[in-house]
Amino acid sequence: MSAGRIRTAVPVLCYHSVSDDAHDGELRWSVSPSDFDEQMALLRERGRTPLTVSGYTTMLRAALPLPPRPVLVTFDDGYADLATAALPVLRRYAIPATAYVVTARVGAARTRGSGPVVSWDQLAELHANGMEIGSHSHTHRALDCLRRSELRREVSLSKLALEDGLQEQVSSFAYPYGYHSPAVRREVRAAGYSSACGVKNALSHEADDLYAVARVLIERDLGAAGLDTLLDGRGWPPAWRRERLRTRVWRAYRQARHFADTARTAPQADARRVP
Ligand SMILES: [Zn+2]
Repeated sequence: MSAGRIRTAVPVLCYHSVSDDAHDGELRWSVSPSDFDEQMALLRERGRTPLTVSGYTTMLRAALPLPPRPVLVTFDDGYADLATAALPVLRRYAIPATAYVVTARVGAARTRGSGPVVSWDQLAELHANGMEIGSHSHTHRALDCLRRSELRREVSLSKLALEDGLQEQVSSFAYPYGYHSPAVRREVRAAGYSSACGVKNALSHEADDLYAVARVLIERDLGAAGLDTLLDGRGWPPAWRRERLRTRVWRAYRQARHFADTARTAPQADARRVP
């Protein structure tokens, strides 16, 4: 799409963990609690209006005017520090957020490569405090490499599990690793989700794709100064609508590798991949 039609650049921030604990190389995607506090304070200082993903995409769908200087705070993977470290800060600054949860991992203890995951009780607490809870699939696999039946299970089972656990409709989805394809987007829409987030490291806007909302991955070394630059939109492109050639080439490569792996190790391959 042309940049000329964009009236409002909307930063959609994608956090993971809020912690100082290193989990086997995951520290890059983990923001320290003090930095997170500074960054949320900055959103308020800059007069930003925080929205949930469903709040934002409902406005886009209805072509309603956006509030002044919108911003979205989202979390992927549902680490337990969402409840223990992020929630108190979000409450202090009255910032609504959206958390995307991998349903098969809810309540999992610390495992190699990741920290502990939120429990159902913590999810209920987050929800009771105004956080939108969305699905990040059932087992966090690259959805664009799965067979249709597996894809359907990942997308639908997680929605059912969350709705059963929270007694609330779950409307938003986030693609694991940001990987999606036309087939994945169709499945997410057919399952009844009204929006889905990708990762583009670009700024969202009024004409963004409701099933591939552009987000920016927040890395540990961003700091308040980096966030300030991001909020100004300096150095960050507006989200583009069509897939880039390199995205399609990379997907074709991953799919070929996935099918080669599956053929080599069948029939145990699927069972091993599910945590
Ligand atoms: Zn993830």
